[in-house]
Amino acid sequence: MPPLKLDGKLLAQTIRTEIAAKVKEQTDSGLPAPGLAVILVGDEPASRVYVRNKIKACDDVGIRHTLVELPATVSQRELLDKIGELNCDPLVHGLLVQLPLPKQIDNKEIIDAIDPEIDVDCFHPENVGLLVAGNPRFYPCTPHGCMQILERNRIETAGKEVVIVGRSNIVGKPLALMLAQKKTIWNPAGGDATVTIAHTGTKNLAEVCRRADILIAAVGKARLILPEMVKPGAVILDVGINSEGGKIVGDVHEEAMQLASAYAPVPGGIGPMTIAMLLENTLKAAVALDG
Ligand code: NDP
Repeated sequence: MPPLKLDGKLLAQTIRTEIAAKVKEQTDSGLPAPGLAVILVGDEPASRVYVRNKIKACDDVGIRHTLVELPATVSQRELLDKIGELNCDPLVHGLLVQLPLPKQIDNKEIIDAIDPEIDVDCFHPENVGLLVAGNPRFYPCTPHGCMQILERNRIETAGKEVVIVGRSNIVGKPLALMLAQKKTIWNPAGGDATVTIAHTGTKNLAEVCRRADILIAAVGKARLILPEMVKPGAVILDVGINSEGGKIVGDVHEEAMQLASAYAPVPGGIGPMTIAMLLENTLKAAVALDG
């Protein structure tokens, strides 16, 4: 049987419709529409595309947005001042600084400066700590997108062997944590899975990956995951985004995908889900702040 394609684009549209209805409930009850502020530094084309997609998604669901564009030469102080200003704006319920930032900027200080209550990317150490403690304020967007694409396609994670290739703070590490955590009323996305994290220090990556009932690639290397690394019938989530001659490809070889029982492709898999989860976090922040 050919593998089932987990259509993240379609699912994200369904989630956006749900979010739009909740945003309308907010505004119908006299509350301001949730507001997302995005800071974009410099002219990196990929960052511009990501930001444009986020803003378009806000428009689709009725979330207000503010785009602050700063030159690549911006100083640490100027960026911190802008964050301080947006932190105090009562109409800003979500604030994100699009990464990567130019070399002169200290990323850590920038992330630390965002008010944790509006840190909708869930990068602030307070929010990371709450996530680790199993009492999350927000879920980070890409890991949550992965969890949602599994859950809403009724793919059970409890008791499964999951292998995640990649251990970044943005994708691999928080996703591993969410998958390994107990599902509770405070932590409904807990996956109750048995999780292995693979990285550049992993010996015999193919053997490790072949253990996986659910294999997740979050690396950024086109076709790293080859057919011999996949257990036939595994579920594969491809998170990688690689540009090849103007085309976007994932981390998983096409022939490896064919061995899966179900797979989230690139493009059209986790990318749109990530944006849907950003909208969800912005709504959640607005409800928490405004009631
Ligand atoms: P990072 O570069 O921060 O992390 C990459 C990870 O992959 C590291 O942990 C690294 O290991 C590991 N890695 C690199 N090469 C190998 C290898 N040969 N074998 C095993 N592990 C390896 O990337 P991100 O986590 O930020 O992003 C990963 C990918 O996901 C990128 O393509 C990115 O564009 C994409 N992405 C997609 C999103 C979406 O919305 N769909 C959102 C965010 C990211 P080590 O730690 O040892 O260096």
